[in-house]
This record gives sequence, C-alpha cells and structure tokens, in this order.
Amino acid sequence: MEPTGFLSKPADMEHHCVSRRCQLCRFTILPGEAVIADINGHLSTIFASTAVSHLDKGLRAVFRLCSHLCSHYKGQVPGYHAACLAYAYVIPSRQFLRAVAYEYEPGLAEDRRRRRRIRDLLADKIGQAYGFPLELCCMTADELVCMSAVHTIQQVWGARRSAGGQFDISRGLWADYVHIDGLRYVANLFDRPGLSVGGSAVLSVDKASLVDVLYVLEDHLGVRQLVFGHQQQDITRSLVGVTKKRDQWWRTIVLSPVDRKLEAKSDGLKIRAIRSGSEPDAANMTWSLPISPPVRDEICLLPYAPYSSLPLRSQQMTALDCNVPGVTGYSIGWAGNLMRIHAHHGGAGGEDLAVYRELGEYRSDVLWTHMPVEPGELISEIWVRYGGEYAHMAVMVRGESQVPPVGGRATLIRDASANVPYHAAFSSSRPPEESA
Ligand SMILES: [Zn+2]
Ligand SMILES: [Zn+2]
Repeated sequence: MEPTGFLSKPADMEHHCVSRRCQLCRFTILPGEAVIADINGHLSTIFASTAVSHLDKGLRAVFRLCSHLCSHYKGQVPGYHAACLAYAYVIPSRQFLRAVAYEYEPGLAEDRRRRRRIRDLLADKIGQAYGFPLELCCMTADELVCMSAVHTIQQVWGARRSAGGQFDISRGLWADYVHIDGLRYVANLFDRPGLSVGGSAVLSVDKASLVDVLYVLEDHLGVRQLVFGHQQQDITRSLVGVTKKRDQWWRTIVLSPVDRKLEAKSDGLKIRAIRSGSEPDAANMTWSLPISPPVRDEICLLPYAPYSSLPLRSQQMTALDCNVPGVTGYSIGWAGNLMRIHAHHGGAGGEDLAVYRELGEYRSDVLWTHMPVEPGELISEIWVRYGGEYAHMAVMVRGESQVPPVGGRATLIRDASANVPYHAAFSSSRPPEESA
C-alpha cells in the first residue's frame, strides 16, 4: 500500500479512476475499505479507498477512487473489495463485468433494499442452522452480506442462459425470467410458444395484430417487464402498483404496422435493451410513468440542463403532480442546480418524507424551498432561467386562485446572477380535471 500525493507521479504512469462500486458484490466501497483495481484482468496491489492516490509500480499505473467530480481520465477501471475478490477466487471475465454493470447509478434506497434483503435471508438461514437468537443471527448476517452477494451472483452467472435476437411479434411473444437479488428480469424472448420452457406469454397470438405500442420497464440492470397496448389507451392506472416503485423507468416503443420486428440485446444474463427499427432514438428517453405516444408527442422538451453530457435517450423524466386535487404545496430542491420539484399531498396517511431523505443522502448541500398552495389555487405558470454558470438557475412560479379569479401570485424561488430571459416551462389556466 503506497498512498502518496497525486501530483508527484512520473508523467509516463497511466492514471485510472476506479469504480466506486465493487463490481463483485455491487455495494458502494466505503471509506477505509481495502480495494483492488483491475486493468483488463491485471490486478493492482491492495490500497485503501481513502488514499488520495495509489501508485502501482508493477502495473506502472496510478489509481484513485472515482468521485462526483471525476473526469475518469482515459476511462474507469473496475474496482473490487479486496475481501470480495478473495472470496470470488477468480478474476471476473469482461462478459461478467458487462452483465453486472449499472446503466446509471440507482438511488440509495436500492442499496438499502438489497442489503436488508440479503441480511434478512441470511439471518433466517443462520437461525435455522444454529438456533442462535435473532439479534445474534442479524449481527452475524450483517458481516456476511457482501460475501453472500458475491456467491449469489456467481451462482446466477453460472446458470445463465440468456440470448438476444430479433423477434416477429405478429406471432405473439413469450418470455422467461431470471431473478437477481429478489428482482425479476427478462432473460429470453421467444416468438414461438414451444421454445419457452417455464416462460409465460407477454403477447398472445390473437392480440398480436391489435397492439401498436410497447412499454418496456427497465432499471439499472436491464429489462424487467413488457406491456403491450394501444396508443390511445392510458395504462397508468392499470399499472399503479408497478409505477409507484422507485428506480424503475418506462420506455415507450411505437410499433410499426408494417415492420413487426423487435430486437432484444442480451448481456448473457438478462435482456439489457429492446428496440424497434421504427422508433427514433432521440424520442426514446425513459419516464417514471408509462407515457403513451400521443402524450409524449405533446410534451415540449427544452434544454434546462445546458451542461449535461448525457445523450437525450439516457435522460430519465419524472412526473410532477401539478394541479392535482389534494396537493397542498410544492417543494423545490436545489443543490448547485435544480434537482427536484416535489408535490406534497395532504391526507390521513401523512407526508412521504422519503424525497427529502434521498436527496439529502445524495448531496449534503441541498436547500429546499417550500411553496404552499391554498385550496383551489392552481399553478398557472412555471418559468425557468439559467445563466452562464452551472449553478446560475432560477425558477418562478405563478399561482392563480380558481375561485374567485383574482389576478395572480408570483414567487421568486431563487435569483440568478446572469442577465438572461426566463423561459416558460409550464403554462396552464385550466382547472385540475382538465389539466391532469
Ligand atoms: Zn464487494
Ligand atoms: Zn471517475
């Protein structure tokens, strides 16, 4: 282990940032944990995650754990907990690493869910095997969570049977699945029923000619669910149980009446992506709710994140309950820039405070501004402006009392220093039942 100043390294050393998430157990590497970096199968010596940098003379490379502001140098290399790699006993193959790579960083709630699920399953098994008291079982299981996660993914990888391909949905579509950490992913698709062993129909033959849109539910690891429908039909209500879960996103794929082919890409473990040749990539971002093509086409997209390097199809769009009956106010979260607009719902169930907790865990400098609304008061306009710097952004909200219709009320949420005009982000004078 050789933590030294980052700027003092010889110029011919290659600099690499190391993934902040262990690519074996897939939990975040915490301060002080021992790490091993992997350059195309060549392992570094062990270093502490808190080291400013680590010089590996054998690999003639300098490593540093990735951070929020990291530019990744010439590319990020996989990192592992030293303990996880010792337990795995083999250097992960490049195919395995591609299969467990995250498309995006999920919310912290997903890590907590995984950790809790693995710990509870382990505690239960320890209790059955040794008859320990529950508290002791949980303490023991806590220590074994990463090891269990490595063991499980190695088992699932060893039994993999996923393959992609092209499918003609005019013959119907069947799917079988693989479970990873308690979540179900599509492993294979078939356009003939006999090929699917233990799978189920996602589109029956008699309905194949009637559908013209496909909603694909995805998360950071791949495709979770397929729902076929009609463009004029709102399926949000029928999927209410699914749509309320966080960290999963819907992609809308329009199905051509002529070309009924779908292409599925597999990473060997599960289906990563589904595309149709008739759907342009630019319109193919993901949404927190299934958005039908007519609704999607009505939405005007404006570049409010001028410095974002994400391509449009990688953007994730969340819905805001704007002017929905029962909303008592709105909160706007700032952390360098506009991070979140959240609608508060009254009622006996109380307020869901998860939105505050999640953003606070992600960023320590979040500032919330709350804007209550009176009963019957509507948001009629939301204006946004930004300046030359990333953090120079302002939102202005105009509310109007529905009864009686007296003028308006404007609230300046945050001022911006640049002298640029505001842009209308939302405008409505309709009552809730029309604008919802
Ligand atoms: Zn690990
Ligand atoms: Zn990096």
